[in-house]
Amino acid sequence: MKLLYNRVAASVSLLLLLASVFPTCVSSQTPPIKAIVLAWDGAVPSFVHDMLRSGQLPNLEKLIAGGAFADDVITCFPSLTAPAFATLWTGAPPRLTGISGNRVPRLPRSQFTILESTNAFNNALLQAEPLWASAERAGRRVVVTHVPFGGDKSDRGVHFQGYRGVAGRDGVINGRTSKPQPAQSWEDLPSSVVPPLEMNFTIGASRFYGLLIDDPSDPQEGYDTLLVASTRSLKEVTAKLKSQPAGPGGEFFWSKPINVKTNDGRDAATYLRLFDLKPDGSDFLLFFTRPTLETVSRTDLLNDANSATRAFIGNGANPLYSQGAFGLTLPNGGNGSAEERYLETVSFAQHQLAETNRWALEHLPWELFVAYTPFPDEAEHMWRGFLDPGLPGFRQEIADRLRPLLQQAYRLSDELLGLLMTRRTENTIVALISDHGMEAIDRLVAINKVLQERRILAVDERGRVDLARTKAIYPAFNNGYLLINSTDRKGGIVTPEERQEVVRQIRELLFEIRDSDRQVVTAVYDAQTDGNAMGIGGESGGDIYIDLLPGYEPDPRLGATEIVARREPHGIHGLNPLRPSMRTLMVLNGPGIQAGYHLRDVRIIDFAPTLAELLSIPIPKDATGRVLYEAFSDPH
Ligand SMILES: [Zn+2]
Repeated sequence: MKLLYNRVAASVSLLLLLASVFPTCVSSQTPPIKAIVLAWDGAVPSFVHDMLRSGQLPNLEKLIAGGAFADDVITCFPSLTAPAFATLWTGAPPRLTGISGNRVPRLPRSQFTILESTNAFNNALLQAEPLWASAERAGRRVVVTHVPFGGDKSDRGVHFQGYRGVAGRDGVINGRTSKPQPAQSWEDLPSSVVPPLEMNFTIGASRFYGLLIDDPSDPQEGYDTLLVASTRSLKEVTAKLKSQPAGPGGEFFWSKPINVKTNDGRDAATYLRLFDLKPDGSDFLLFFTRPTLETVSRTDLLNDANSATRAFIGNGANPLYSQGAFGLTLPNGGNGSAEERYLETVSFAQHQLAETNRWALEHLPWELFVAYTPFPDEAEHMWRGFLDPGLPGFRQEIADRLRPLLQQAYRLSDELLGLLMTRRTENTIVALISDHGMEAIDRLVAINKVLQERRILAVDERGRVDLARTKAIYPAFNNGYLLINSTDRKGGIVTPEERQEVVRQIRELLFEIRDSDRQVVTAVYDAQTDGNAMGIGGESGGDIYIDLLPGYEPDPRLGATEIVARREPHGIHGLNPLRPSMRTLMVLNGPGIQAGYHLRDVRIIDFAPTLAELLSIPIPKDATGRVLYEAFSDPH
C-alpha cells in the first residue's frame, strides 16, 4: 500500500515538474486535490460526543459521517498549545521541533541560564519543516489564517499572522475610571432629550472623547447612546454606540475597526462595544478589544480586503471576565450577565475570523488553506473546572448554568467549520484537528518548594535563585518539566558524571510528595533515557518530565507557603499526553478518505504525513509520524 502511494506521489511530482517546464500542460491535467484544515484549540472529545448526540454540532456531525474520525488522539509532551501545533504542522515531536512549551529555555545553553526563557510562538525557533513549506515545494499555493507558526518558512503563501500583531491589552472603561460630566467644551452638540454628558478615555496612545446622549430617535428611556470622536467635535464621529445588553444579535452593536496609535507610534486597530449605560448617565460599561497591528504577508494581494478582514481580534475577553471586569462571575455569585458579555466577545472574535476566512477563500488562490480558532480552549480553561463532579467543591447548580455556555463556545467553532465546508469543491479535503484536551483541577503542587527543602534549589536572602547552589528547578514557564543546572549551561554546576545521581534524588523526593496519604507525582521521565521514545528533551527541551494525579497542577512559584494548596477550579492542559483527559479529535473528510471510518491509535504527529500523502505533496522533512493508510479508500 505504502509503495503504491509513493509511486502515485512520485508520478504527481513528475507531472508537476513537467507542468512547470511546460506550463501549457497544466490545464489538461486533473487539478490537484485541495485541502481546507481547521484547528479548534483544546477540543474535549467526551464533551463533543455529548453535543453531537444532542445535535448541537451539525457541521462536525456531517464531517464525521462522511469521513474518518478519531476521538482518542494523543498529543505531545508537554500537551501545550505551541508544542502541539508545532507537532501538528511538522509531524515531528517537540524534541525535534524545538518547541517544548509556550515559552522555552533560551539557546545557546552556554549563553543563557536555566532562568532565562523566550516566547515560543515564534517561527524562528521552529526547527522542523511545516506542512505548508512542503506544499510549496510541490508548487501548491498556501493560505494560512492566524495559525500558530504560520508564516516565515513560506515564501509565496499568504499568511495572516494576527497574533504577532497584538499590541496591547483589551479593557473596559466605566463611570469609575471615566466619570461623565456635563458637556461644556464641545464645538457643537447633537440633539439630545437630556443635556449631553462628556467623558474621555485613552486606548494605547490615542485619546478619545465621548458624549452620552438620549437620542430623540431611540425609544429607550434616558441616556442610550455614546458618540465617540477623536476631538471635542462632532465633525468626525469615530463611532456611534447604542447601549444594548449582551446576548443574541449583540454582534450588530459593535463598532467598525477604529484606528489607534500604539505607545510606540504604530497604527493599530480596536473595536468598541457599549454593554451598559445607566439611563441617568451615572455609569456605563464600554469594552475595547486588544489593539492589533495588521500583520499579513503579501499585502499586495489584499487590495480588495475589507477593514474587518485586516483588523484582528483573536481572543475573547477571558482575563477581563475572570477578573470580574464584566461583573461578578456565576461561580462568584453573579447573575450570568458577565458570562453573556464574555460570550459575546467570543462570538465577535469568531465572527472576525469568519470574515477573514470567507474573504481569503474567495479572493486568494490556494490549494492548501489552513485556519485556526482559539476556541473552545479559552472557555474550557475558565469553565471546565466547574463541570467535573470529581472535584471536591463541585456545585451542580453552577455546572448546570455553565455547561450551556461552554457549549455555545463549541457551537461558534462549529459555525466556523460550517463556513469553511461551504467553500469546498468535490476535490477538496476538509480536516478538523485539535491540539489537546482539557482537565479540571483545583489543587497546586509547589514543586520548587520541595526542591528547596531538599537543597536541590537554593535562593538568596532576597528570594532569588542562587544558581551557584542550585542543581535543578521547575521553571516559571511551567512546561511540565524540570531543568537540571548542568555545566553545559551558563552558571551550571551539575557535571555529566553527577547528573544521574541528581535525577535519582529528584525522582525520590518528588515521589515522596503526599496529599492526605496519596502520592501526588505519578511519573518521572528522564529525557536522557526516555527522550527518543517519548519525543521529549532535546537542546531546548526539559531534563526531567513529570506527571501528577488528576486534579493537580504544578505550581512553579518560588515562595509558595504550602506544598499542596487549593485554588479556584479551572481547566488545564500541559502534562502527560497519555492521560485520558488530554486526548483530542481528528477528522479527515474528502477524496481518498473512507466515509464512516473510526480511526484508532492516532497521534497528532500523524496528521501532517497523512495529509501530505492525501495531497500527493512531500511529507514534511522531519516528520516521524505515520501515514494513517487504514483510513484511505482504495486508490483504484
Ligand atoms: Zn489552552
